[in-house]
Amino acid sequence: MSVVAVIGAGIGGLSTAIRAAAEGRKVTLLESSPEVGGKLRQLKIGAYRFDLGPSLFTWPELLEDTLKAAGEHAAPFHYTKLDRSCHYFWPDGTHFKAWSDRDKLSAEIQSAFGIDPGPVLNHLDSSQRGFTATKGLFLEQSLHEASSWKPNSTLGHLGKAVKSWRDLPLTRKLNSWNRRVGHPQIQQLFNRYATYNGSDPYRAPAMLHVIPHLEFGMGTFAPQSGMHGIVEALHQTALNLGVNIRTDSRVEKINVERGSVNGVTLLGGEFIEADVVVSGADVTPTYRNMLSDQKQPERILSAEPSTSGVIFYWGMRHPAPDLHLHNILWAEDYQEEFAALFERQEISEDPTVYINIGSQTSPNDAPEGAGNWFVMVNAPAGWDRKGLDDLREKVEQKIERMTGINVRKHRECEHVLTPNDIELRTGSHRGALYGPASNAPLSAFLRHRNRDRRIKGLYFAGGSVHPGGGIPLCLLSGRITHQLMEKHDPLL
Ligand SMILES: Cc1cc2nc3c(=O)[nH]c(=O)nc-3n(C[C@H](O)[C@H](O)[C@H](O)COP(=O)(O)OP(=O)(O)OC[C@H]3O[C@@H](n4cnc5c(N)ncnc54)[C@H](O)[C@@H]3O)c2cc1C
Repeated sequence: MSVVAVIGAGIGGLSTAIRAAAEGRKVTLLESSPEVGGKLRQLKIGAYRFDLGPSLFTWPELLEDTLKAAGEHAAPFHYTKLDRSCHYFWPDGTHFKAWSDRDKLSAEIQSAFGIDPGPVLNHLDSSQRGFTATKGLFLEQSLHEASSWKPNSTLGHLGKAVKSWRDLPLTRKLNSWNRRVGHPQIQQLFNRYATYNGSDPYRAPAMLHVIPHLEFGMGTFAPQSGMHGIVEALHQTALNLGVNIRTDSRVEKINVERGSVNGVTLLGGEFIEADVVVSGADVTPTYRNMLSDQKQPERILSAEPSTSGVIFYWGMRHPAPDLHLHNILWAEDYQEEFAALFERQEISEDPTVYINIGSQTSPNDAPEGAGNWFVMVNAPAGWDRKGLDDLREKVEQKIERMTGINVRKHRECEHVLTPNDIELRTGSHRGALYGPASNAPLSAFLRHRNRDRRIKGLYFAGGSVHPGGGIPLCLLSGRITHQLMEKHDPLL
């Protein structure tokens, strides 16, 4: 009987636990917090409910695939497709709705920017081709197993990639590649996709141009009961499968004997025997704290972290009719914002402000006529609270200037998370949202592998390892990790 200890009940840990238990393994999921969900936990203040982390739900097939692995044990999960991904507001008064319908999108490009939509649509088609060509190679398998590079498993992927070489700009930066859209504001819009893995569009490779296809081509979605509904479905499914979920259980040490894991030790000293250990916690504290007596993968652990954020959760007694579920109020100088974040480790003087109002699609999350605002600005990993009051004031002023809504007048409650708070709550190294940044040309190869090469029975899942951060990639990491487990530590 294979006994698996999974550390951390975020998306990576939960999804790996589900797949391992569905296969028939005995799984114990150990979570240091009082609740499961990791970054995707929720908070209730009076009649307002807030999702603390992710707000954007894409590629829902991956969640369905995870639940499907549990067969009859899968908990129900319902979601709807949205007719637009985001409302964008520029300081010069330009307002743009990113419709998912192609004809409506074309008309909106013409009316908002006064340009021929052709180059933008071509850019999106190229994003789709790039995504289709690379996902099998870079996202759906391990990059670190010899078998991934055997001709019959890889040549098909490579063949596709080579055929679409025009859509795979290997040597360009994302910002320069996006110039093709023919308008600086639309270029800025496409540059923002680098932030979907916490990177800098002026340094990140143009390969990241495949990300917009997720939104524009595949669509954006809203879980019926808010983003936390994703955690509820995974949690219930794991329970249905008999996963032993233990909250308030911090793992202090991964025990290794003669090159193989044999269990984990909890804070307080309890030892839990296991022949497979999966860390769904951030890889940096996993090595620095839980594997401190083992050789450290220094190059990976010292990689530049992705961005973090400062998030204001505001209960707002205002219907905000012009705001959608997702809204962006742009910085005047986007390049300066990233110079501040990555070169000076500061929040820009004029940061881009993201406003998410979950109650626009889940009305029960706020009182009638009110909204549960999640207001986020990009912050460097490790930023502390110094300057928080100034930042709040800047954000309030920007919202009033660009939307006409007086935040102070309508705000009924507030909660704030900074990068340091995110680190304290989830163990994420320096509060980075997506593990290491993807600013280097070969970043995809520089994330930690899903199976440890030197320690038998040790695996990694979640946003700090391959294939990357964000809900879809964390779900993929759960799938890849389980596939590796099936191969290298088969159920006997
Ligand atoms: C503010 C914010 C906004 C985001 N927006 C989006 C978005 O819109 N869309 C999107 O797709 N993604 C978004 N993300 C990223 C996404 O949330 C993460 O990539 C994903 O949730 C990470 O999941 P995970 O399983 O890797 O780790 P986590 O969610 O961090 O879970 C790790 C878990 O491990 C536990 N743990 C750590 N150490 C130990 C230990 N020693 N013992 C036991 N347990 C331990 C932690 O308590 C935690 O529960 C956002 C993240 C944040 C914070």
